[in-house]
Amino acid sequence: MFSARDKNGQIRHLLVDTQVPKGEYFCPVCNGLVRLKKGEIMQPHFAHVSLSNCYYHFENESKEHLNLKAALFRWAKKNEKVEVEAIIPELDQVADILVADRIALEVQCSPLSKTRLWQRTKQYQQAGYQVIWLLGEKLWLKKTLTPLQKHFLYFSQNMGFHLWELDEKRSLLRLKYLIHEDLHGQAQYIEKEFAFEEGELLDIFRLPFQKQLLASFSAKTDTNICHYIRQQLYYQNPKWMKRQETCYQKGENLLSKSADDFYPQVRPVRADEPFCQIYQDLSAYYENFLRYYQKAQNKKSQIVYSPAFYTRNLH
Ligand SMILES: [Zn+2]
Repeated sequence: MFSARDKNGQIRHLLVDTQVPKGEYFCPVCNGLVRLKKGEIMQPHFAHVSLSNCYYHFENESKEHLNLKAALFRWAKKNEKVEVEAIIPELDQVADILVADRIALEVQCSPLSKTRLWQRTKQYQQAGYQVIWLLGEKLWLKKTLTPLQKHFLYFSQNMGFHLWELDEKRSLLRLKYLIHEDLHGQAQYIEKEFAFEEGELLDIFRLPFQKQLLASFSAKTDTNICHYIRQQLYYQNPKWMKRQETCYQKGENLLSKSADDFYPQVRPVRADEPFCQIYQDLSAYYENFLRYYQKAQNKKSQIVYSPAFYTRNLH
C-alpha cells in the first residue's frame, strides 16, 4: 500500500509525497505496524509487519498490484480528483482507486470468492458508488469464461458483454467486448487496447455506453459440429448430457440433428445465476438474437453484432 499514518497520526502518501522518511508507520485501516519498503524491484510502499487483523490487506501486495494502482492513480490524476486506497467509512471498504468521489476502481490480481465479490460489489452500489473491476494477469479471459469471470462482466447495448483487463508489463488497459460463447464453450470477442495515460481514463470507461457505430465480427464456427457433439455425448460430457436430456423431453435427439439445427453456434453469454455487475433484464436481447438468426438464409456463416442491432432488426 502507498499510504500509512505516521507517529503523529498524519497520513503519509508515497505517490504524492516523495520525501517520506524512515520511521514507524501504521496501517490506516487496522492500525497495525507497517514497514516502509524502498527496494530495487518494487516501488516504495508500506507492508504490514503482521497481517493477522487487517480486513484490507489479507496478504502483502504483489508488484503487479502496486504498479497498477500507481499507474491508474497517475492516469486519473491528469483530469480528475483521485484518491488511492481511499477509505470509505460508510462501507468498511478501501477502494484501490476512487475517482471523482464516486467511481471505485478495483484492481483484482488474484482470484477471490464469488461471495466476497458479490458482497463488495453490492456494498459499493448500495452506498451510491459505481465500481469497475479491472482484472490482473491471473484473471484475464483466456479461451473460456470461468464462472468467476462471468461475474466481472458488464453489459451495454453497444458493446454487449464486456470486461476490463490491466496489463502491467505492457502498460495498458484492455477492453474485451462483444463476448460470446460458442458450442465448444469457448469465448469469442473483440478487444481494444489503451496505453496508460493516453486519453482520459473516465472517457474510456464510458466508451461502452457512448453512441457509436455498431460493432460486429465474423464468428468462428465448426463445420463439423455434429461430429463434435457425438463425441461429447460418447464421453458423457455433463453439459451435453443435460442438453440431450432436454431434447429427449421434447421427443428429439441431438444425434439426429443436422449442422443447420445448431445455428447460430455462437451465442450471448449465459449463466445459471444472475450476473454480479449486470442489472438489466437481458431476456429481450436473448430472444431477439435467436429470432434474427432463425430467419437467416445462409446458415454456413455467422456474423455477430452489438445487442442494439438485434433490437433494430426485429421485422
Ligand atoms: Zn492493516
